[in-house]
Formats: sequence, C-alpha cells, structure tokens
Amino acid sequence: MIRVAINGYGTIGKRVADAVAAQPDMKVVGVSKTKPSHEAFVAKSRGYPLYIADLSKKAAFEKAGLPVAGSVDDMLKAADIVVDATPGGVGEKNRPLYEKAGVKAIWQGGEEHEVAGFSFNSDCNYREAIGKQFARVVSCNTTGLCRIINAMDKAYGVEKVRAVMVRRGGDPADIKRGPIDAIVLNPVHIPSHHGPDVQSVLPHINIVTLAMIVPVTMMHMHVVQMDLKTAASREDVLGIMEKHPRMGLVRKAAGITSTAELKEYAMDMGRPRSDLWENGIFEESVSCIGKELYLFQAIHQEADVVVENIDCIRAMTGIEKDPAKSIAMTNKAMKFVAIK
Ligand code: NAD
Repeated sequence: MIRVAINGYGTIGKRVADAVAAQPDMKVVGVSKTKPSHEAFVAKSRGYPLYIADLSKKAAFEKAGLPVAGSVDDMLKAADIVVDATPGGVGEKNRPLYEKAGVKAIWQGGEEHEVAGFSFNSDCNYREAIGKQFARVVSCNTTGLCRIINAMDKAYGVEKVRAVMVRRGGDPADIKRGPIDAIVLNPVHIPSHHGPDVQSVLPHINIVTLAMIVPVTMMHMHVVQMDLKTAASREDVLGIMEKHPRMGLVRKAAGITSTAELKEYAMDMGRPRSDLWENGIFEESVSCIGKELYLFQAIHQEADVVVENIDCIRAMTGIEKDPAKSIAMTNKAMKFVAIK
C-alpha cells in the first residue's frame, strides 16, 4: 500500500483524499488544515487523521472537537508521498519540508513548472514520471487541453492549436472571488499562460491560447481549433473520443448546451460532488473541415486533475509502469465511466 499524505485539504485536496481512499493500492495517512473548518469536520467523519500546519492552533482545533494527530512534519514521516494541494504559491514554500522529510511530492497547477522541474499528464508522459522524486500535475485547463491535443497528435499529428479559454471566475464556495458583472480578459495579452503550460508536457506542440474570466463558478469552456497534419473525418475523431477513458461526449440527444445542464447531468448520475473528471466534449461541436478540427469542451476545474494525481502517485512510486493500466485502475476504483 502506498502511504499518501495530502497537504492542504481544500477544493482539490479533499477530492484527492477521497480518490486515494478508493484505490486498492494506496491509503490516506493524513490530511492537513490550517484552521478548523467544515472540511476538517468532513475529514474527521471520513476517518482521515488530521494534521495541522501550525501546532500553536492545536487548542483551537481540539476545542472545536477536532482531534489533531500532529504537525505536517509528523504527517510526512508517515508517508511515502505527499500531494501538495495548498493554494498556488504556498506549495513551493513547502518544498524544503518535503526535501527534509525525504518524501516524494506532487504539486498542483497553481505552482510554476520549476517547483518540480517535471509537469505531468497521465496520457502524455506517465512513463517519464516513473521513479521521480517531484512532479507537478498541470492545471485543470492544461489537463483538458493536453488530453485532446495528445489524442489528436497521436492519430493525425498536430500542426498547430489555437484555443480560447472561457474561465470560471471562482469555485462555487469561493464567496470572495470572481468578477460580479464583467468579462475580464485574463490576461489581456496574448498568449495566455495555458499554451506554454501545455508545452511543459508536450514541448513540440505549436499552440497559442487566449483566456478570459466570466462570472460563473461551475466549469470552464474551451473553444479549440487544431490544424491536423492529415485530414480527419468527423466519425473517426468521434471514434477516438468514444474510446478515450477520460473524454466524455455530450451527445446531441442529451439536449445539453451549457455547463449548468452538464453539471446537473453529473449530479443526476450520482457522481460524488457532481464531479466531471472527463473532458465534456460537445458532440455536435466536433467539426472537421479538411485538416481543421473544431470543438467545444467543458472542463470541470475542481475535478479533472484529481484522477491525474492518482496516476501520478502510481507512476512516481513505480507500483504500476503501464499508463493504460493505471488509468483503468483509477477509473474503476472511482466507479468512473466517462459519459458517452
Ligand atoms: P483551496 O484554497 O480550496 O484549498 C487549499 C487548502 O490548503 C485550504 O484548505 C487551506 O486551508 C490549506 N492551506 C493553506 N496554507 C496551507 C499550508 N501552509 N499548509 C497546509 N495547508 C494549507 O485551493 P485549491 O483550489 O484546492 O487549490 C490548490 C491547488 O490546486 C492550487 O495550486 C491550485 O491552483 C490548484 N488547482 C485548483 C483548481 C481549482 O479549480 N480549484 C483546479 C486545478 C488546480
């Protein structure tokens, strides 16, 4: 059993903890919080040992009825690998802690590529992660882009990608974030950081991305255009998406034309936290004009990176060397069958 610690039990950390707990080959040895919160109560109810970043807050936790197992340093001693899901920028400050403890560490997309020197996506570079001490799972948007670009690149070769990201302003519980009534160019300059981030995983891809933030919380929407090296038929492209374990197809017959309805669909399917772990590709939007491919895909920011973290744990610890087997194992343990 791989012993996994989760440092930072927020939007991503709590999902990763549940995903780890569901796997047959790994277990949660602890999660960390900075202050008592509803999430800390959830951790307690799930039976995850609760560690805290600042031991001087121990009394506050215990007064709230939250037993403290120890400090983050103590948690690291019990772990083979730590998933750092602290807010962007905090994670890099934790690197000395992980070096000192001699544990493997995975950071999230809010950190720069340099924090680990290696950026991960299950489809694209699983084998390169085998045995690594440090890795960074790329952001939600980059994960969604990497999946679709890599699949098309393997099948047809990708000449260039141009993509527009319509990004959610904040997560549903982020009551202090996001524009209230605006479309914010984020950034106003072109390209946005997403293209270079894709290149941290797929360095040979010619990609330019543009991004804006809109006042919604549920998902991002990508407008993707690719020039392929060889012409593709729509049927064949849809066939690739149908077979891909982390690409969902939002069928025309489902009558879904928005992120709101897609989230409702995930909820009705009984997904935990109504999470959509796959790219939500709108079947009707998939269009091939000669060598050009166009599509819309919805990306659930809170969810798609979670399954990637699980595969990254398997690769870094070397317990499974075949990416397809790890992806299948992760999905099966989470009862995740992509919508088709
Ligand atoms: P979050 O704010 O929801 O959760 C972060 C948690 O870390 C909080 O519980 C906070 O209390 C805790 N924390 C803060 N400082 C800490 C410290 N020093 N030690 C231990 N815990 C600490 O953040 P999030 O949205 O889960 O983001 C985490 C990372 O995942 C970031 O790098 C982010 O960019 C990335 N990410 C976020 C999303 C998303 O949509 N939320 C998507 C993909 C990647």
